[in-house]
Amino acid sequence: MKALNNKTDLTAAFSSLRQRFEQGLPQRSAAMLAMVQKKPAQQMLADIVAESHKLSGACGTFGHALLGAMARQIEQLAQAISAKPLQEQEQTIPELIHTVQEFDIAVAQMIAGVTGKHELQRQMPVMKNSVWLLLDNAALTIEITAQLQGFGLQVEEFKDYTQCVARLREETPAILLATVALSTGELLFEQTLLLNRLVQQQIRLMVLAEADSFPLRVQAAAQRAEAFFVTPLNVPEMITYVSELLDYSSGVGRVFIVDDDKLLAEHYALVLSTAGIETQISNHVENIVDEVMRFQPDLILMDMYMPEYSGAEIASVLRQYRDFKRLPIVFLSSELNKSLQIKAMSHGADDFITKPIDDMQLIQAIKVRLARSLQIKNLIEKDSLTSLVKHAAIKDTAELEFLRVERSKKPLSVVMLDIDHFKMVNDTYGHAAGDLVITALATLLRKRIRKTDRAGRYGGEEFLLVLPDCDTQQAKLITEQILDAFKKLTFSAGSIQFSCTFSAGVVSTDDNDFANAIQMIAAADSALYKAKVAGRKQVLSWSA
Ligand code: GH3
Ligand code: MG
Ligand code: MG
Repeated sequence: MKALNNKTDLTAAFSSLRQRFEQGLPQRSAAMLAMVQKKPAQQMLADIVAESHKLSGACGTFGHALLGAMARQIEQLAQAISAKPLQEQEQTIPELIHTVQEFDIAVAQMIAGVTGKHELQRQMPVMKNSVWLLLDNAALTIEITAQLQGFGLQVEEFKDYTQCVARLREETPAILLATVALSTGELLFEQTLLLNRLVQQQIRLMVLAEADSFPLRVQAAAQRAEAFFVTPLNVPEMITYVSELLDYSSGVGRVFIVDDDKLLAEHYALVLSTAGIETQISNHVENIVDEVMRFQPDLILMDMYMPEYSGAEIASVLRQYRDFKRLPIVFLSSELNKSLQIKAMSHGADDFITKPIDDMQLIQAIKVRLARSLQIKNLIEKDSLTSLVKHAAIKDTAELEFLRVERSKKPLSVVMLDIDHFKMVNDTYGHAAGDLVITALATLLRKRIRKTDRAGRYGGEEFLLVLPDCDTQQAKLITEQILDAFKKLTFSAGSIQFSCTFSAGVVSTDDNDFANAIQMIAAADSALYKAKVAGRKQVLSWSA
């Protein structure tokens, strides 16, 4: 190592040392957590005393006084316990475990704070398409795993809460579906360590309970659970839920920023963009209507006090336009005066974020509001059963894409799908079961098509796919793959299990000189009719 002969070198070396210490902390606290659960207790207690002693000194040295104090507390507690008679130790060890867990959480928070302030880009990898299952029911786990994988999701299974916590140190799934009670008697809502990690890592929680219970639902709500399922689990419903949640969290959204302090505005934009949020900063307040119209944001983030016009005034102006009536406007305000905030709300503000706010908190606050806003938008614009766009909208899309073919010179395919003998499904298994079949197919369509493709609910059990840059053969292949996956889904009505098929007709602009999309849709419909006549559960092309 080179000699350090000036102050800058020293400072750099010290900060690199501190960084190395901080990077090693999560492993050390994890190891201590594993240690504290070991038997026999006497040796374990001695090990804990030794390690927490070292940690408390080092944490203090590297400027983490609070962590140092917590480690010291662990040391003292472990010493006190080891002084007790053996039979009394058993009773106090859970408290020690709890204290070590708290330390572990504080370490995770410190690390999150560090990355939050200095290195936003270096976050734990989030597996957008991954769902973790912690169900304590082998048969159900197998069934759900197969179905989720059928939708192209990654699934991982866990036997108990502790195992799941350990894995959370390495990766971040999008969703955790967990049972509220294990057969060993362990309860989900008592797992503070696990629950804290879910919040920190922004993982969506869905819970499964043996029976419905209001107090349990309240506990689930306190943990911000997205869904509360009751056994027997309605698998298609759960899957639809999962796929919707994943859709909302993937489309992070667009934020328009209004702040007279240009540097601050740029800072917010930069911070939000590291979280995948698209941003634009208002250039000139008097042009805001045009700017917003062009950018089509999902949310406006606005300073409350600006020299020329106040945030409330700008919000009022925006609310005069029909297109912006529903656009969420969130004020950034250092204003703690509630009555002024309420006044601003009467001018069209939806919410407040109080300054100063650190980067991580800003991202989280905006993400939560964006997700909510997108959810509401979807509720309004989309078919409520399937979350797919409705008849008129998918026809418009087909027309738009048809016009684009002129310029792109790339083939456009249109596929019409219709579930086979669906009347019989309703008659035999009930209308509710029928609804689930429809939602499951919708989910499958959404999952299996490309980003540029569109799927719409054309009618009751009829769907239309619009596939740009896709010829007849490719469209037929994709649709056949979807049919294969659909056949494999099993639905339950009470104790009876059943599955379904569909027929489909495919047509592309290569097949004929179509004048418009309406003609193409009619052609796809006649191909669908041929498929029905030929025995259903198949995909036929119009040209065949
Ligand atoms: P085919 O194989 O020829 O398509 O037979 P089918 O029974 O599927 O055809 P048909 O068009 O006669 O029946 C469609 C049925 O779909 C009739 C209607 O009650 C039912 N349906 C339409 N919309 C919904 C819905 O939203 N939910 C449920 N459960 N059923 C619906
Ligand atoms: Mg039909
Ligand atoms: Mg049908």
